[in-house]
Amino acid sequence: MTTGAKEFSRFGVHHEDCIGSKVRRSEKRRPTTTTLTRMTLREQLTGRLDELIANVVALAEINSGTHNPDGVNRCAERLAEQVEALRPDRVEMVPVDPTPIVTENGEQTSRPVGNALRVTKRADTPFQVCLFGHLDTVFPAEHPFQTVAVSNHRLHGPGVADCKGGLVLATEVLRHVETVEWGQQIGWEFLVVPDEEVGSVGSQPLLRAAAGRCNIGLGFEPALPSGGVAGARKGTLNGHTVVRGRAAHAGRAHHEGRSAVRGLARLIDTLEELNERDGVTVNFGRISGGGPTNVVPDFAMGAFNLRVGTAEDSAWIRQQFERVTARTAAAHELEIELIWGSSRDPKPRTPALDQLLADVASAADEAGLQIAAEDTGGCCDGNDLAAAGLPNVDSLGICGGNIHSSQEFAEVGSIAERVPVVVEVLRRAYRRSVA
Ligand SMILES: [Zn+2]
Repeated sequence: MTTGAKEFSRFGVHHEDCIGSKVRRSEKRRPTTTTLTRMTLREQLTGRLDELIANVVALAEINSGTHNPDGVNRCAERLAEQVEALRPDRVEMVPVDPTPIVTENGEQTSRPVGNALRVTKRADTPFQVCLFGHLDTVFPAEHPFQTVAVSNHRLHGPGVADCKGGLVLATEVLRHVETVEWGQQIGWEFLVVPDEEVGSVGSQPLLRAAAGRCNIGLGFEPALPSGGVAGARKGTLNGHTVVRGRAAHAGRAHHEGRSAVRGLARLIDTLEELNERDGVTVNFGRISGGGPTNVVPDFAMGAFNLRVGTAEDSAWIRQQFERVTARTAAAHELEIELIWGSSRDPKPRTPALDQLLADVASAADEAGLQIAAEDTGGCCDGNDLAAAGLPNVDSLGICGGNIHSSQEFAEVGSIAERVPVVVEVLRRAYRRSVA
C-alpha cells in the first residue's frame, strides 16, 4: 500500500527527525580519482531510488515474522530473485532447526522457522567476505502492521529498516563489486538467516561455517539512531525459571500448600539485585502462573533476559542464577527448574574490529559523511560471528528508526550514501590481505 505524505504524517515522523548519516555539506574537498568513482556510484544509486524503494517494499510487504516460516520462505525467494542479477555461483535455501521455546505451562517444545538464504560467488578465491542479515521480523502474520507507506524517500513499514532495507543495500554493494576489477579477486557469501529476532539458535551452524570460511564480515542490521555503527556489543542470555509447589485450599489447609507464586516473587527479587554488578543487567520481562485465589498456587514461571559485558560476567551470572535458584527452592520447599535458552557472547573491541571501524569512519569521511562507532547493549549475529573468530561490522544497513514498533521507518536515500562507503571498506580490507 502506498499513501500520500499527508496520511503518512500521522505517524509523527518528520523529516527533521532524519537520522541518516550526517552529511557535512559545508566542507569542500578536492575530488580524487577514487572519490570521483564513488560520487558516480552515489549518483547512479540516487538515480535508481525508485527501483530501490520498490525492492525494499517488495520484501517488507511479505510478512516474515520469525514463526511464519511460509512467509519467511517467500521473502527468501523474493530476495533470491533480486540477487539473480549478480550471477551468483550458488543460491541455496538452507533448512534451519526449529527454535526451542518454553510454553506458558513450563513445557519445553520448539517452533519451526523458515529457511536461510545463502548466495555465494567465487568460493575458491583466497579473500572471502560474508555479508549478513536476516529475513525475519518481530511482526507475526496476525499483526496489524503489514504494509508500507512511502512518503518522498521515507518508508514506513514492517522490517523496512530491520533489516530488509539493509538486504537491498547489501545487494547493491555486491552489484557494484561485480562491476570493478578488484571485485573479481574476492569471493563472497551473502548469508541471510530466518531466526535472528529470536537469537539465531537454529542458524548457529551456518554462522559458524561462514566465520570459518571468511576473512571479514559486513552486517546489514540498521544503522544506529545517530547513523553510526555498533562497536562493542554486550552479550545476552535468555531463560525461564519454572517453579512448582504444592496446591492446597487457601481457607482450610493453607499451611499444607507451598506457593509457587511466592517462591517466584522471592526468586525474582533476589536475582534482580544482581543488577548491582557493573556491566550486568537482569530483567524478568514476563511472569505467569497461579489460578483461583482460594487455592495456594502450585505453578509459576518467569522469563528473563540478561546482558553481560564480558565472558567472565556471563560465567558469573550463570553461577549466581544456579546458586540463588537452588537456595530458594530449598528454603521454600519448591521445585525450581532453571531453563537456559538462547545466548550470544559479548562482542568486544579487538584490533581487527577497530581496524574495520576505522575504515568505516575514514571511508565515510571521504564521502562527506560521518559514521562513528558506538558501543551498545544490543546483540545480533555479529556477536556470534565475532565469537566464531570473524571480525565484522554489523550495522552497515539502512538508516531509519523506531525498529520493533509500528512506527518503524527507513530512509532509502541512505542506501545511496552508504553503499559507496561499504564498497570502500571492502576494497581496503581486500587490499590489506594482498599487501
Ligand atoms: Zn535486525
